[in-house]
Amino acid sequence: MTELLQTNIGNQYRGLDTETLLERIAERKRELADRILILGHHYEQDGVFRFADLSGDSLKLSREAAAIRDREFLIFCGVHFMAEAADILSAPHQKVLLPHLDAGCPMADMASRGAIEAAWQELCSASGLRGEEIIPITYVNSSAAVKAFVGTHNGSVCTSSNANRVLAWALEQGRMVFFFPDQHLGRNAAWMLDIPDNEVFLWHRGEPCGGNDPADIARARVVLWDGYCEVHMRIFPEHVQDWRAHFPEAKIMVHPECRNEVVRLADLSGSTEGIIQAVSDAKPGSHWVIGTEINLVERLAGQHPDKRVDNLAPACLCPTMDAVSPANLLWVLDNLAGGRVVNRIQVDEEIAIQARKALDQMLAI
Ligand code: SF4
Repeated sequence: MTELLQTNIGNQYRGLDTETLLERIAERKRELADRILILGHHYEQDGVFRFADLSGDSLKLSREAAAIRDREFLIFCGVHFMAEAADILSAPHQKVLLPHLDAGCPMADMASRGAIEAAWQELCSASGLRGEEIIPITYVNSSAAVKAFVGTHNGSVCTSSNANRVLAWALEQGRMVFFFPDQHLGRNAAWMLDIPDNEVFLWHRGEPCGGNDPADIARARVVLWDGYCEVHMRIFPEHVQDWRAHFPEAKIMVHPECRNEVVRLADLSGSTEGIIQAVSDAKPGSHWVIGTEINLVERLAGQHPDKRVDNLAPACLCPTMDAVSPANLLWVLDNLAGGRVVNRIQVDEEIAIQARKALDQMLAI
């Protein structure tokens, strides 16, 4: 089969109405059923998500897909770092395809390996600590190259469901923890572990010593990269206060990528899977106000008509997740049926070995 990388899917898909697209995807899926596995992240739009053989958050998807060895093509309806993780965890004969090549995660892109390495060096010289005394943690929302850096330095990956546990582990391993790329997930985990605010420092990209006084950084226990998720940053404390004032009986639950002021005010915080579980387990008639990506919240509302589920804040749509449209999915399937593998995501072997080490470390914690 020939392989090609392509962003433009061609004009023949643009004029197709939704019904035609969905019918043709269903047809192709039946035709290719023995060879493909479609993975759908919870933030994907409905026209794509409905075709998922497996759904979940990024790591759950990669791990479950890796256990299914009889499908040659894993079509990852999500963003770039997720497809990389799936490639790292899948078998050598499996190929991971990303329906939209431009679907990246802006937060993951805020931390390149080169920038992390440079900051690491600065952190070592400012703090006077040896490299092995600083434990790196990377959120799963990061490139394979960044995960490989963490593997090389005996650190760990974390997810939004285990960040507290991984941070506690890292604090036992060394004198300082360097957490990237999401400052809010790191700050919320540090807050949960009762680490005093004056021992948590923010590393501002591009500034000498991350914008900190080198004398101060020497006493840091946790240093946070200044990355963030632009979607969860659209949620403010005022949204929580407003809902609470009007619906005091409602449970307000937010994702830990939200700023700490929001998490402190909410009733609960939890990962994507944690949010789904909480709403699923809730009593009929209960009212939930959820602060995370809108496609997930709206789908939850549709799946639980016996409960009321509202969006905590408007406009929390992840544009890069949403960029994967039914047309992109059909284009991938049509190409496979025609003997062409499009948008294969492949991680360099050396990088994959070190990145896998960081992923395995997480699973061992
Ligand atoms: S919702 Fe935020 S963290 Fe998730 S892919 Fe979009 S930008 Fe990245």
